[in-house]
Amino acid sequence: QVILAIESSCDETSASVIINGEVKSNIVSTQVIHEKYGGVVPELASRAHQQHILPVVETALKQAKVTKNDVAAVAFTRGPGLLGSLLVGTSFAKSFALALNIPLIEVNHMQAHILAHFIDEPKPQFPFICLTVSGGHTQLVLVKSPLKMEIIGETKDDAVGEAFDKAAKMLGLPYPGGPMIDKYASEGNPEAFEFPISEMPGFSYSFSGIKTALLYFLQKRVNEDPDFIDNNMADICASFQQTLITMLLQKLRKATRQYKVKQIAIAGGVAVNSGLRNEIQKLAEKEDLEVFIPQFQYCTDNAAMIAMAAHFKYLENEFTDQKVSAMPRYALH
Ligand code: ATP
Ligand code: MG
Ligand code: FE
Repeated sequence: QVILAIESSCDETSASVIINGEVKSNIVSTQVIHEKYGGVVPELASRAHQQHILPVVETALKQAKVTKNDVAAVAFTRGPGLLGSLLVGTSFAKSFALALNIPLIEVNHMQAHILAHFIDEPKPQFPFICLTVSGGHTQLVLVKSPLKMEIIGETKDDAVGEAFDKAAKMLGLPYPGGPMIDKYASEGNPEAFEFPISEMPGFSYSFSGIKTALLYFLQKRVNEDPDFIDNNMADICASFQQTLITMLLQKLRKATRQYKVKQIAIAGGVAVNSGLRNEIQKLAEKEDLEVFIPQFQYCTDNAAMIAMAAHFKYLENEFTDQKVSAMPRYALH
């Protein structure tokens, strides 16, 4: 069956076509307009979604070599995300379903980030633990089946992607900061500077402390030497990034032991980070675990992951009706 899926939760407008569980296209239009504001401006995001959604959908259908009349169901991101952005995808999908008289499938964006692991081979087996690291979330999730997930730990304050983005801002790097920090970090010494690891109970995370620590560290050093940042960019990025990775993986390791799980995975935009990818490989080797890491294009926001989630829901006849509305806060279930 042919399913068309739409993603519009934040600042990428994306459409994907999946046929019998195989992704045939994944068109992503990233809104560059936010760059000069140093972060996503919600009003500009929803307007850009409105402009991009139709061409993105048309391209996705064309690349998959199908027409809208072939589509058996249409899926969309219901949440979590920015209300104005979600509304564009939600209302587009609802009208599309109504016009073609086909079923509608609502998808949870965080569940979809995890289900991105089922796009390519090799696929993880259930149960596995997924560390979801993105711009708005940091979660350790016990994945029991495609549609049954349990959060075993999450951040109590900032998301790790936010920590990357805010650190980049302090260092004068452009938005989004994650990729820039990653790039500099690969040339730096991760042990050059020390940042505090926040000790949180259980499987909880906290990233606001390290952000503040970086701020005070930079203020002090720049006060002593105005060129401190420029002269130490790679070492600062490497040390900061390493601390975040250590915090992420400590809890992941603890979770695999407690839940006796042998397969681990990472998902979300921060899963693009090369340091994290390297370190999780090392952890897996040391702990004798099997690790799953998606392609870059399936880590950052994309509709292919929404299509994959929709495929599983289609198999379970999990459809929704025209009364469905966008949900900016939509807990993972
Ligand atoms: P959420 O999925 O929680 O709603 P989001 O959809 O905005 O948030 P994603 O698109 O999944 O988040 O991820 C974006 C985040 O990933 C940004 O914070 C960005 O800085 C970060 N990121 C992207 N590439 C890298 C990288 N190479 N290293 C570190 N972080 C990165
Ligand atoms: Mg984004
Ligand atoms: Fe996301």
